[in-house]
Amino acid sequence: MQLEKLGWNGFFASQARAGVPARVASATREHFLVWTENGEVEASVSGQVRRNGSTWPAVGDWVALRPDAPVIQQVFERRTVLSRKHPGHAMDEQVLATNIDALFIVSGLDGDYNERRIERYLVVARQSGARPVILLNKSDLAEQYRIDVGEVVARLRHWSGAPVLAVSAAAGDGLEGLADLLAPGETAALIGSSGVGKSTLVNRLLGQSRQVIGEVQADDNRGRHTTTVRSMFIMPGGWLLIDMPGLREVQLWASPEQLDASFEDVREIAQACRFRDCTHNDEPGCAVAASGLDEDRIENYRKMQRELDYLDRKTDKRLMSETRARWKIIHKAMRKKTKDGW
Ligand code: GDP
Repeated sequence: MQLEKLGWNGFFASQARAGVPARVASATREHFLVWTENGEVEASVSGQVRRNGSTWPAVGDWVALRPDAPVIQQVFERRTVLSRKHPGHAMDEQVLATNIDALFIVSGLDGDYNERRIERYLVVARQSGARPVILLNKSDLAEQYRIDVGEVVARLRHWSGAPVLAVSAAAGDGLEGLADLLAPGETAALIGSSGVGKSTLVNRLLGQSRQVIGEVQADDNRGRHTTTVRSMFIMPGGWLLIDMPGLREVQLWASPEQLDASFEDVREIAQACRFRDCTHNDEPGCAVAASGLDEDRIENYRKMQRELDYLDRKTDKRLMSETRARWKIIHKAMRKKTKDGW
């Protein structure tokens, strides 16, 4: 297998020092399945990588194996990183996949259709560095749920700036358009709520059942039998697809600037707000509130803004004090408003 077909390029080649280049096709806590020029091998992580507290390998990573054994001795710098806030209370980043070129945001055109969720995934995509592609699955059900597909596609294209495709994984409709969005050797990942049809889509794209090829039997260090689920697949068109099954909740791990990039329309109007750092909640002279934009979209923006502000405050003490200082000025202005009646 040529490395270029697995996504190898100059960016990674320039980092290669010693060892055998390989791409991580599956990563569980201690088990790694990697693809080299000579095929698939099971790999472990070297003591050096462990000790240095350096980057822990994730699916999609390019790594260097020791020349004499399948041991990961270097994790290459990543081009893109798809991550979320660690589920639970920890204020940590959890890396889901790396070096992806496109993120397919999957949503069902049925009773669960929710544009707010798409907005959230768009922020996740922008933060990752991958190009977002919106896949509206179950197009065969849209009519039944009184969803005007043409109107939804046009609206999403307008505010997301991303390609939007209406498809039916079950019927195999509309999927030809996907191939045009990815060049051979590029990597995509799928994200979306449970039940939107991600597995059906993977199976349909692969043209065979993933259960047949998805599992690898292996022994762990203590000789016990374990099953590793392969997460990366080579598609018939020559591009690669990373599947992240069982991903229920995606809390944001992003900066407020990345949020703004997904809400250009809100941001443009926000420039007319009286306060440069208006949070579009209750401040006087807020142009966003007065704009007539879709109220749900504005509310979602506010919600994510609060979430990211909270994250910022919890993760960076300096920012926390800046936020406090900002709010002092706003509150002062609000008190003045009440007093002066403007
Ligand atoms: P996942 O949880 O996102 O992996 O979703 P699944 O692939 O398991 O699909 C959830 C359900 O939706 C299953 O019953 C699928 O048969 C069904 N489904 C998936 N794609 C389509 C589609 O295009 N049209 C219809 N009508 N049903 C679909």
